[in-house]
Amino acid sequence: MTLLTFRFAPSPNGELHLGHAYSALLNQKLAETHDGRLLLRIEDIDTTRCTPQFEAGVLADLKWLGVGWEEPVRRQSEHFAEYQAQLDRLIREDLVYPAFMSRGEIRAFIADSEKRGRDWPRDPDGVPLYPPSDKALPVKERKRRIAENEPFAWRLNVDAAVARVGRDLAWTEFSDETLSATRSVEARPQDWGDVIVARRDIPTSYHLAVIVDDALQGVSHVVRGQDLFSATGVQRLLQEFLGLPQPAYFHHRLILGPDGRKLSKSLGDTGLAKLRVAGASTDDVRRMVGL
Ligand code: GLU
Repeated sequence: MTLLTFRFAPSPNGELHLGHAYSALLNQKLAETHDGRLLLRIEDIDTTRCTPQFEAGVLADLKWLGVGWEEPVRRQSEHFAEYQAQLDRLIREDLVYPAFMSRGEIRAFIADSEKRGRDWPRDPDGVPLYPPSDKALPVKERKRRIAENEPFAWRLNVDAAVARVGRDLAWTEFSDETLSATRSVEARPQDWGDVIVARRDIPTSYHLAVIVDDALQGVSHVVRGQDLFSATGVQRLLQEFLGLPQPAYFHHRLILGPDGRKLSKSLGDTGLAKLRVAGASTDDVRRMVGL
């Protein structure tokens, strides 16, 4: 039997909170129960928001919680060349296009369209989809704008990609925390529109880096929050084009704050460092997250 491999993949752009504690402890528990491995990946492609201080805090919090992982830790900011190689494949396959619109231009385009009575489609997170104009730019115009150093991101041409696959894609999702049963979930990448595959300043985005790393690290089981459930459809589509193996997924419940809302990294009192200073024990944390 092959060794099951789990991972915890925090972004060091703030302090860990109870939601992260639940995710890390659940991954650890599953790795232990299944005699598997637990890896740690630091998702720091956003080099402006992620800092060494936050990373040090993440490691300290995890150690305090008693979470252990197999070394080495993979730090995404050290692997841009690997993402670039995969991005180049998507460029060669003509599955991505340069998207030049700034946030302000996108907003203005959508406001203008909505003024004329058209409801603009939004992704499952409520973010308006990227306007179609750049997809239709003639090659000559694209080349001219790139030659003039106009900033751009690479976006996936999702309709073209789905059409090229030519069949429905699905992923395997576990039904509960014990990983005892699975079901097949239909991937709906088009719900997200033309997602960013590489940001303006770096050769990757969250979606690309996460699937490349899960494959390179041999992750067999992706256990992460419910907030990433439908994003899995986009990741499944990219895996298909890059010929990457597909892990099985479990999207776990989210720990909610007293106001019933998802925790954020700015919510101080559910931060692990604050709880520790206030005298909470790791058993208290386990109880608070229901583990
Ligand atoms: N880095 C992501 C986060 O902190 C998690 C990505 C994943 O588990 O796929 O939300």
